[in-house]
Amino acid sequence: KAKELGKNNFQVYSSSLNAQTFKIFSLESSLRYAIERGQLELYYQPKVCPKTYEIVGAEALIRWNHPEWGLVSPDEFIPLAEETGFIVEIGDWVKRTACLQMKLWQESGLPKVPISVNLSANRFLERSLITNVKQILEETNLESKYLEIEITESSLLENEKVVFSVLEELKRLGIKVALDDFGTGYSSLSSLKRFKGLIDILKIDRTFINDLTSFETDDSNFITNTIIQLAQQLKMEVVAEGVETTDQLKVLNNYNCNSIQGYLFSKPVPATEFEKLLNKGKLIPEEMKAKEEKFT
Ligand code: C2E
Ligand code: MG
Ligand code: MG
Ligand code: MG
Repeated sequence: KAKELGKNNFQVYSSSLNAQTFKIFSLESSLRYAIERGQLELYYQPKVCPKTYEIVGAEALIRWNHPEWGLVSPDEFIPLAEETGFIVEIGDWVKRTACLQMKLWQESGLPKVPISVNLSANRFLERSLITNVKQILEETNLESKYLEIEITESSLLENEKVVFSVLEELKRLGIKVALDDFGTGYSSLSSLKRFKGLIDILKIDRTFINDLTSFETDDSNFITNTIIQLAQQLKMEVVAEGVETTDQLKVLNNYNCNSIQGYLFSKPVPATEFEKLLNKGKLIPEEMKAKEEKFT
């Protein structure tokens, strides 16, 4: 009986392993063709000023429209792209598409705001990043001050010499660097110290924003407030990620957070939708609109 059970267990284990291996294998082989088949798309999510509600920037976020599986999340295919090396081509495509799109919007008279792109850790370490970025800015004719690069702390952990030289070169070119998902890595505080003056923007991870309450004295509020003060003391701008409620917005506004990104203002949307948002210029959350109407 025990033998039977063991056998069954093995079968379950091995068939689920096969299914997983198969999924990875087929993801991998179709990722290979995703670019040339036009299955990749950039969505854009606005960054908004918490005081005026004006759009002050946008983050480009990749989407993969797979003909059978539908929208595949970047959390699922970016790690695979990193392992297989497709990330080089994908990253190129992302930067070029984002810069070109922003240039087109600017030329059509829409408000000029910076576009930020996410960079994989292993891409950041390559010196070729600089030549690559320069070439894309030249090709698309976008001014460097309108391009921002988002990296995570893991990008800063490896070869310190290379990291410094890449950051310094980006600074020289006038491209801003943002530290994404701040507070979740291994060395958040020491990164701030070591790379002072080379990182322009801090994006507070949404796990901190999630924990905000309307009680000023709560620990989570105190931590967020302190991160904002600290970053601003170090001459960095602060973006809060994952803001979903007007209560969170109010708290962050009290803490003088520089900009807000989250579903409260807009989810990431396709280019045609984002163009409409840029055209409006200001994004007033529905909840606030209702309140304003009551008082006027
Ligand atoms: P990220 O750079 O931290 O991007 C923010 C993520 O939070 C996005 O998920 C966005 O849709 C989501 N988000 C924004 N506001 C809210 C909110 O109010 N509530 C909640 N629950 N979520 C919110 P997304 O688009 O699925 O991207 C996930 C991650 O994939 C990104 O995290 C980034 O690390 C990576 N990624 C996306 N696009 C690219 C890319 O072009 N290249 C690379 N290397 N990585 C990318
Ligand atoms: Mg990001
Ligand atoms: Mg983030
Ligand atoms: Mg992330």
